[in-house]
Amino acid sequence: MRQAYLTIDDGPSEKFRLLVDFLKARGVPAVFFNRGDNMQARPEDVIYGIRHDFIMANHAYSHQRASRLSFADICADILRAEAVLDRLYKEAGVKRPGKYFRFPYMDRGMGPSLVEPGRRSPAHEEGYNRLVTVGLGHALVMPDEAMVEKKRALQEFLKEEGFENLPVRGVTIPWYAQTEMAEGVDSLCTFSTSDWALSARHIGKHGFSNLEDLRVNIDQDKDLQNQKSRHIILAHDQAEIHDVTTALVDHFLDRGVSFLDFHERVL
Ligand SMILES: [Zn+2]
Repeated sequence: MRQAYLTIDDGPSEKFRLLVDFLKARGVPAVFFNRGDNMQARPEDVIYGIRHDFIMANHAYSHQRASRLSFADICADILRAEAVLDRLYKEAGVKRPGKYFRFPYMDRGMGPSLVEPGRRSPAHEEGYNRLVTVGLGHALVMPDEAMVEKKRALQEFLKEEGFENLPVRGVTIPWYAQTEMAEGVDSLCTFSTSDWALSARHIGKHGFSNLEDLRVNIDQDKDLQNQKSRHIILAHDQAEIHDVTTALVDHFLDRGVSFLDFHERVL
């Protein structure tokens, strides 16, 4: 049976509680990479998520692209969201399971690039390019040296602040496991549901016009066929696409995918 970890970005939306209830009813664990501004707007919802055993993690405060902010501004934005998370875990009376972070747009400082130039082998290109273009909707652009430096400095910053990679195991997709993607202090993924592509802003512009297109994309994705590797799946908590995201989670379940708990650490 295929196994996967579910990661959900951009919450808590107005439909966050519905999503939590939906996942809970199906026994699907998840980590939520929340925006600081959304947590500030709906603190009780975050506490609700924590008390229902979901992991709340950091997706920066104001959801901006790291490559377009100064180094100091990104760091401040991350710490601002961190302060909100700390406070809400305290209010919930639950110890934080770990400090996890995902960059907005997965922009690690290198724009659309997830891996430094020259650090992938030709065998990695197909799957990697598919995630960047189909999954994240980015163009394939090479970062310059200054961007690479910024990415490295941000990794150092995250380490110093005590962030750690998600406790996922058994992810062996080569372009993920054999590149810096698996080593990053920030959290990446191996498959994106592209649920975002059905929002009003994006619909029809990225090759996806309806739910069926996204289901077919899941069924045909080469890496997802890999039964030996576990998968790290990206979805979103955005009110506008709530029905899309939940339908895709159900589609994975229909296809026999089981979602794993992040807490099962091996000592
Ligand atoms: Zn995001």
